[in-house]
Amino acid sequence: MNSKLTLMISVGLSIFLLTPASRGAEKPPTQKPAGSILSRASVSAAMAAIRPQAIRAHMGFLADDLLAGRGTATRGYDVAARYVAAQFAAMGLKPAGDDHSFLQYVPFRTAHADESKSTLSLTATGDKGSKSPIALKYREDFLLRGDFGRQSVAVTAPVVFVGYGITAPSEHYDDYEHIDAKGKIVALIFGAPKFDSALKAHYTSSLQKIKNAIAHGAVGMIVVDDPVLEGLYPFSKRVRDLRTPDFRWLDPQGAAHNFFPQIKGVAQLNVDATRRLFDGAAYSAEQVFEAAKSGRPPAFDLPLIATIETVTQSREVRSPNILATLEGSDPGLAHEHVVYSAHLDHLGVSESAAGDGIYNGALDNASGIAIMLETARVLSQMNPRPRRSILFLAVTAEEDGLLGSDYFANNPTVDKRSIVANVNVDEDKMLWPVRDVVVYGADHSSLGRVVQAAATRLQLAVSPDPEPEQVIFVRSDQYSFVQQGVPSIMPNPGFKSLDPAIDPHALSEKWEKTRYHEVGDDMSQPGLDFESAATFARFVYLCGYLIAEETQRPTWNPGDFFGIQYAPKSP
Ligand SMILES: [Zn+2]
Repeated sequence: MNSKLTLMISVGLSIFLLTPASRGAEKPPTQKPAGSILSRASVSAAMAAIRPQAIRAHMGFLADDLLAGRGTATRGYDVAARYVAAQFAAMGLKPAGDDHSFLQYVPFRTAHADESKSTLSLTATGDKGSKSPIALKYREDFLLRGDFGRQSVAVTAPVVFVGYGITAPSEHYDDYEHIDAKGKIVALIFGAPKFDSALKAHYTSSLQKIKNAIAHGAVGMIVVDDPVLEGLYPFSKRVRDLRTPDFRWLDPQGAAHNFFPQIKGVAQLNVDATRRLFDGAAYSAEQVFEAAKSGRPPAFDLPLIATIETVTQSREVRSPNILATLEGSDPGLAHEHVVYSAHLDHLGVSESAAGDGIYNGALDNASGIAIMLETARVLSQMNPRPRRSILFLAVTAEEDGLLGSDYFANNPTVDKRSIVANVNVDEDKMLWPVRDVVVYGADHSSLGRVVQAAATRLQLAVSPDPEPEQVIFVRSDQYSFVQQGVPSIMPNPGFKSLDPAIDPHALSEKWEKTRYHEVGDDMSQPGLDFESAATFARFVYLCGYLIAEETQRPTWNPGDFFGIQYAPKSP
């Protein structure tokens, strides 16, 4: 699961695909009821073949200290990549990467602001305060994002606070309504209004906010700090994470994808510097926080000019996605692909971290890879094989902003139109015996019906998103596919436990505080329940199998926001 969501641009621009609906003249094919497909003896056998000990074994290898936290473009990651490729080969799957290999290499540029040469200063323009610039301190008060196109860039401009910085016409919401941001640096607060869970997540993503700022003529951006962001990704952790640079993938011309030259500086403030930013303004920081909590922060000019100077250190590296195909058995459907995905990378090693400094990433996301591998194995042994082809994709650079998946979704090794759905697995919190599932994205497409049928088969309940403020829908790789118009889901275990003595909500909260993106997310953490992981894997299997078997490919719900925004348009 990704936490750089406030800073990393994680998703691609939408590309409209040719629509399968353009073949609408055809008679709708008859569809077998999902329940009858899932009650087949071959399905029961495949579910029974999913082994908790295999999930544990894959996780044990991938989360071993020897792999050094599987950081993108490191030797540890490359070893993990060869492991996954070897597993695919052993299952008899077809290589689906570059040049008939299992690997698709992703070219990256890294960027890291040179702290000794990069600055942020504020000059008051109102009646209050001195007119001489106040220089803020790097790491203490602020940090800057590196620039992916320029070694050195600077901007001086008036600052306007634009609330969340969101324009959402379908929700009749516009933070820029009474604001002129042209030629200004926009300051904005993390989050989004109280929209539907997935929509809120979408508008919270930094890519949407940057694109909207550019649409309003902004030349720079300052992300203020607030209690919500502090709870999710504290400034201290953002400073800690400066040890690794930011990444972008490169197009064939060598340009960084989602680099926007219009924005000449991006700064993030801590809470103290945020208070200073609002000094002498129409609203104090506390008033802004309070208003944001209620879903409608004010927007207003700040009585100051900011200067952001960014000097960037940059490097070019590459790191592979790992891909394999199980060919479909139905000649009429085998050209279409269901894509399973899980991220293989994690955070690497940090000398300043506690203990051995190795971010083993057992749950994040050795668990997802292990579940995908076991799912692939049982699918590959089914007779007959599933009707559609199934592509298994282990991606790199998820923790750097969903980049490996975004690269694949933009540059697929199969016909883009052939991808009918994505099922992504990230962070199975196997800490209690699973009794329900929460499936991000299920409310937006016909995959909701698939999810319901799979859950019913396993006697699991389907629960709504218990934590919309975590904006999970945009924090893992399914969002890369959504942005390309592909109906996508990310199943998670819900907060119901078969063991009434366990309180999953409390356990999950504790885990987020103490082990999420910490060195303690390793195989020695207490409570790993591999039986529960196997049950969850059976659910993941059933979802993909049903999508592969049903005659009709998944569709966005009529009028759905993501369908309208990203799905293929009829010619
Ligand atoms: Zn993560």
